[in-house]
Amino acid sequence: MRKKIVAGNWKMNLGIQEGVQLVNDIIAKLPVFQTHQHVIFCTPFTHLQKVNEVINQTKNSSLHTGAQNCHDKTSGAYTGEISIAMLQELGVNSVIIGHSERRQYFQESNEFLKNKVDALLANKMHVLFCCGEPLEVREAAQQNAWVEKQLQESIFHLSAETIQQGITIAYEPIWAIGTGVTASTAQAQEMHAFIRSLLQATYDEDTAQNISILYGGSCNAANAAELFACEDVDGGLIGGAALKAESFLPIIEAMK
Ligand code: PEP
Repeated sequence: MRKKIVAGNWKMNLGIQEGVQLVNDIIAKLPVFQTHQHVIFCTPFTHLQKVNEVINQTKNSSLHTGAQNCHDKTSGAYTGEISIAMLQELGVNSVIIGHSERRQYFQESNEFLKNKVDALLANKMHVLFCCGEPLEVREAAQQNAWVEKQLQESIFHLSAETIQQGITIAYEPIWAIGTGVTASTAQAQEMHAFIRSLLQATYDEDTAQNISILYGGSCNAANAAELFACEDVDGGLIGGAALKAESFLPIIEAMK
């Protein structure tokens, strides 16, 4: 069975104490998980250690911490960057790679992201790999070609075994991120099915069926259940709605 995942991307929000309080509030009301269900808290770097301590106390193996970025080099003169080993020291096992905000504001190219993916997988880390098209590409009906290129240039060089073990794909149409405009279930399902068909064509049926594909983009307490009910949607990458227990908990509960 494919993993079902709800990941909260806190971006550059919340102080450390606020973050710890949020995770405690969520933990206090968590549903009972099945083994294929997971929640990942992708906090700012400064919060990871404390949040990890909190979730470790629960001994709940469905809870994880994730970083929002990392560097592909092991060490050196990369001012402001963080290495994979540094994240592992904090107990982090997942990293978001290729978020549209990193691509847009920090000019992260498909090739650059490929290097990060390779470094993370060589270190047995779990990659939440983001893809998704801007509005003008959707309006020109070119979204499939856009997403295919992102996947081809950053992750489709991996072996079937490696991609299955280490990658979760998050489809995040840029026009839906932080805008309050959610992709319709039809739009989400169509793209997720397309991505699965690419996995089947590039690899095989087993790989296509085993890789989780999350939806991200204004997913909230009101629309999560409908989106997650789509055959090829295996959970969500959640921004704004991950910052409050009352909006994040119903999304976790919508994960089947
Ligand atoms: C995101 O940034 O990954 C995201 C999905 O944000 P939001 O849920 O706020 O649209």
